[in-house]
Amino acid sequence: MSDEWTSSAPVSLNAEVMVCGGGPAGLCAAVAAAQEGADTLLIERYGFLGGMATAGLVNPFMAYYTGGEQIIEGLFQQIIDRLDAAGGWTHRRDEWARDAFDPEIMKLVAQDMAEEAGVRLRLHTMVVDAATSDGYLEYIILTSKSGSERAEATIFIDATGDGDLAARAGVPYEQGRPEDGLSQPMTLMFRMAGVDEDRMPPREEINALYDQAKAAGDIDNPRENVLWFYTTRRGEIHFNTTRVIRRDGTSAADLTAAELEARRQVKQIVNFLTEKVPGFSKAYLSATGTQIGVRESRRILGEYVLTAEDVLGARKFADGIARGCYDIDIHNPSGTGTVIKRLPAGESYDIPYRCLCPRGFDNLLVAGRPISATHQAHSSVRIMPIAAAVGEAAGTAAAMCIAQQQTVTKIDIAALRERLVQHGACLGSE
Ligand SMILES: Cc1cc2nc3c(=O)[nH]c(=O)nc-3n(C[C@H](O)[C@H](O)[C@H](O)COP(=O)(O)OP(=O)(O)OC[C@H]3O[C@@H](n4cnc5c(N)ncnc54)[C@H](O)[C@@H]3O)c2cc1C
Repeated sequence: MSDEWTSSAPVSLNAEVMVCGGGPAGLCAAVAAAQEGADTLLIERYGFLGGMATAGLVNPFMAYYTGGEQIIEGLFQQIIDRLDAAGGWTHRRDEWARDAFDPEIMKLVAQDMAEEAGVRLRLHTMVVDAATSDGYLEYIILTSKSGSERAEATIFIDATGDGDLAARAGVPYEQGRPEDGLSQPMTLMFRMAGVDEDRMPPREEINALYDQAKAAGDIDNPRENVLWFYTTRRGEIHFNTTRVIRRDGTSAADLTAAELEARRQVKQIVNFLTEKVPGFSKAYLSATGTQIGVRESRRILGEYVLTAEDVLGARKFADGIARGCYDIDIHNPSGTGTVIKRLPAGESYDIPYRCLCPRGFDNLLVAGRPISATHQAHSSVRIMPIAAAVGEAAGTAAAMCIAQQQTVTKIDIAALRERLVQHGACLGSE
């Protein structure tokens, strides 16, 4: 790490468990660790929690049930119950309206869950560096309006979505697809309100109009169709339709270019919808994400690397700490098209605890999007319900490390799985 950060930064924060990043994974990690009795601090760069579910305006929750069985519960189910109780959960049952939630209520729910569990919060603070010795993460460096600070903890959890902390600590990682290193495209989510849903044509007709607009040169988005969802409110439609390719989510220059490009695409699509698509003539742009959504960036190399064969073969592991059933879903990193490969009907796969353990580190766990998986397997594990379940497992494991005075790879995995099940996790047997 650079002297610039270390020489002057005072130690101003410490905790038994320090969680970096407050998205679905970090929130659940911090709540689980605190509920297990660990003194827990959650550091988040924005002024609110929720990650992509709030800042990215990502919606809805993708598959967490298969063959009629719900495979992710625990803290994730608590999020749904709280959203529902606060009026922020959909009750529409159409295929394209299921599992939608209100992102503003999500911010409140996330904050309530963290505060009620006793998690200490530090918002508006970014993790920028890490000091390690011999596989031990000694402290991290934070930057904020207050300047730079040093933060110490017994166990750290990287839930930054991009593996920022792990990368700074020197954990090996991969990025993108094997052939050219390109990652899945970025998408800036947006919403339109004032839509007359009863007049909206079927999806195929909207797509045919979209093709015409592309052929006329009114839209230059490489995405193949208009992907839209209903929301919790009638008359409001959610769009997952912009596509920015060949950009790296860990480069500030690329993120800048991507944000500018995506907003230009939003303008084109909004014009197209209001001018060409029935039901949208009086509609207006009601929201865009605070930031562009990054589907894929760093994937750390852990004690085990989850593969496409594991996912599609519905493989079970003795150290499974969460289950997934979402497709392999790869939006083309270099242009048009989306590749989908489905699991056998009614099946699910296990995510091994070893995917959370970066190679060669005693006191660092990684949760959420950057866990150890190949490009293909990552496209399935990245969804919000799985990130939440993996986060809960990481937080529970971190608290066990504290209680047992143990390193992350030495804890009793059977006891971890038992504890997760006691808290409502739906784990299968090997
Ligand atoms: C375009 C797009 C569409 C998607 N569609 C769906 C969908 O329909 N359904 C679904 O379930 N999933 C979807 N996903 C996937 C899902 O949103 C993410 O993969 C998931 O949110 C990952 O959770 P996470 O907690 O690991 O990371 P994130 O949600 O990204 O949270 C990371 C948190 O860490 C904070 N952070 C980052 N870096 C730092 C730092 N250095 N210091 C401090 N804080 C930091 C961020 O501000 C954020 O709050 C989509 C993702 C994208 C990008």
